[in-house]
Amino acid sequence: EEEIPKDHPRYQDLLTRHRIEKGVEKGITHLQGMHAEGRGSAFDYLLGEATISSAEEAERVAAAHLLLADHPVLSINGNVAALVPGEMVELAEATGADLEINLFNRTPERIEAIADHLREHGAEDVKGLEADARIPNLDHQRAKVDEDGIYAADVVVVPLEDGDRAEALNEMDKTEIVIDLNPLSRSPQVADVPIVDNIIRAVPNMTEHARVLADEDEAELRSIIDEFDREAALEQAEDRIRSGEL
Ligand code: ATP
Ligand code: MG
Repeated sequence: EEEIPKDHPRYQDLLTRHRIEKGVEKGITHLQGMHAEGRGSAFDYLLGEATISSAEEAERVAAAHLLLADHPVLSINGNVAALVPGEMVELAEATGADLEINLFNRTPERIEAIADHLREHGAEDVKGLEADARIPNLDHQRAKVDEDGIYAADVVVVPLEDGDRAEALNEMDKTEIVIDLNPLSRSPQVADVPIVDNIIRAVPNMTEHARVLADEDEAELRSIIDEFDREAALEQAEDRIRSGEL
């Protein structure tokens, strides 16, 4: 990361790509994660590589959901682990959420490598290693979750999630928070709270909102949640991308 000049006009994008490359080298990110990263990068370019106001609002609403939840879980895949490991640990601490590794291309080696990586970044308890429950209506490999983790969660944060799994989780009656730069992708389309923003910006923002909202009472958190309009948030993101105005 030292090799990337900080004054480069595309600094954040280069840094993101570099982290994914490192993730692949370390065995925590699947090669396919580079394609996902490329798609994200294109959408971020069209969004002006900035957090739009509807995303900022969605990040605050997500924080309110996490604070109100009985059993919130943050889902970690290979890209998430490569891009924001310490930031996810901080969000988990700020909201009392669990961290669960949940992979599209699941191998014991990658699970172990990601668990180690998260522990290096301060995680104490990492879920996803038991895989003793299944998400209904999903093929075997991708359905694996922890019984006392995602399976039992009332609120889940699924960043950069595959569309099939996002849909299957949604059918389980959980509050689903999706972080995805493509507002047309199925995952944000089915989410209760779609956050159309780069995960690199979204997660620290969510943590900041959670810290600010930590002392609010339940009624105030509920009203923040009730005021949110998911359709309007998706629409604002799509409008921004289509307008070509940066
Ligand atoms: P599907 O329709 O099945 O969801 P997809 O084209 O969305 O397919 P996936 O690999 O399942 O592809 O999902 C990757 C998603 O993650 C893409 O929508 C991409 O925009 C998004 N993405 C990639 N990098 C980031 C990032 N840094 N921050 C936020 N979103 C990202
Ligand atoms: Mg998608």
